[in-house]
Amino acid sequence: MNFEKNLTDMPIEDFRASGKELIDWIADYLQQIEKYPPLSKVKSGEIYSRIPTEPPTKGEDIEKVLSDIDKILIDGITHWNHPGFMAYFNSTSSMPGILAEMLSAAFNANGMLWKTSPAFTELEKAMMNWLRQMVGLPENYWGIIYDTASTSSMHAIASAREQLNLGIRESGMTGRNDLPKLRLYCSEHAHSSIEKGAVTLGIGLNGVKKISADDSFRMIPEKLEQAIKDDLTNNIKPFCVVATVGTTSTTSVDPVKEIAAICERYNLWLHIDAAYAGVTAMIPEMKWITNGWERADSLVINPHKWMFTPMDLSIYFTRKPDILKRAFSLIPEYLKTQVDDEVENLMDYGIQLGRRFRSLKLWFIIRYFGVDGLAERIKAHIELAQEFAKWVDDEKDFERMAPVPFSTVCFRYNPGNLSEDELNRVNEMLLEKINQSGKIFLSHTKLDGKFTIRLTIGSIRHERKHIVNAWEVIKSIARR
Ligand SMILES: *Cc1c(COP(=O)(O)O)cnc(C)c1O
Repeated sequence: MNFEKNLTDMPIEDFRASGKELIDWIADYLQQIEKYPPLSKVKSGEIYSRIPTEPPTKGEDIEKVLSDIDKILIDGITHWNHPGFMAYFNSTSSMPGILAEMLSAAFNANGMLWKTSPAFTELEKAMMNWLRQMVGLPENYWGIIYDTASTSSMHAIASAREQLNLGIRESGMTGRNDLPKLRLYCSEHAHSSIEKGAVTLGIGLNGVKKISADDSFRMIPEKLEQAIKDDLTNNIKPFCVVATVGTTSTTSVDPVKEIAAICERYNLWLHIDAAYAGVTAMIPEMKWITNGWERADSLVINPHKWMFTPMDLSIYFTRKPDILKRAFSLIPEYLKTQVDDEVENLMDYGIQLGRRFRSLKLWFIIRYFGVDGLAERIKAHIELAQEFAKWVDDEKDFERMAPVPFSTVCFRYNPGNLSEDELNRVNEMLLEKINQSGKIFLSHTKLDGKFTIRLTIGSIRHERKHIVNAWEVIKSIARR
């Protein structure tokens, strides 16, 4: 080995200089983001073809790397921070959140154990306590940060399974004839992550029973109870119900109180998926959505959706962290510490060992905006969506397809003289043209077989003018 060579990191003065340059690049990018189309227009493989197929043998200047952001990547970016981005559920990064991400990378603290960074575990605990109060959950709720709602809900289903005491942790599920078939229930509008959780945990897709919804896309409690009774008669063991507060297609809210009563009657784990809409519980007018939350076993909320937190940050709250720990705690010798009895080691509460210092983002964002500042922004989005819904209702050739409890509006173009098949084709084409316009980006769903356009407001960069402009774009393209 040649010890004359410099085998250390980038020189600190270079880091200082390029760091400042990158911050300037980010500031310019966010300031001028509207010069880009929100939806990337590249063809599949286009970005890949710009990148050398072989890695550089010798190091390159960081300057060269930075200049390639514009040359190679930028056309292939779909700009989630663009105020014309109104597809899916917005996920936008506020500037305090961006700063926190930088700090997280600098510490590179891995919070597997309390000892591997006491501040990590304790800041996360403090932020979970803040968030719990912000959304009005009782004190007996304990929280942890995972990457996504998909992971949070998977841990909820795992806990529900563990609660059954069927020895699955030790003996698994395969090759056993002493196990009943297990059943999980959710509405037909539940997010696909629930089924993925069931797939992961050996419940299987057939172990998920989709309960039908009413005209407003809410789970029908009577149908849920009937399905449970039917399963019991057939020796299938019900174990978990997932209620959704803010479904993905229409943001409908399942009747949690009625569902909770059924779960209590049959002793089933109740998990609430409030990934998108949960943050609105911060607003006094929206408190109604928390009806029955105190009776759930667990609940997921995603600050990375509507709380201006850079990807990724999902919060899993549960009243039964002991069951989560029973399901996942496994401590090899090399991870034992002398303080294990006194502290919480986050690795005990899930499948991952290492974890990123995500709570920094919450600490920066909640402190910078304040609870009132966050609530006011979210409330403004809901009001803008109500206004947009009214515009849709007032136009003769547009039709609203679902109630608007939050900030997502489902609608379609309907001039009144087309068959359902033609309407589906026309609206699919309309959405395509809207997204090709390079001005806004919307997404779609299907409701009772009807192709439906979805517009979501929830970006920290959304102002009234963007919503006015979106409506102009939609109307003018539709009528052309
Ligand atoms: C977005 C969403 C999810 C999935 O979120 P990820 O964090 O991407 O896994 C699950 N449920 C609902 C209701 C959602 O809106």
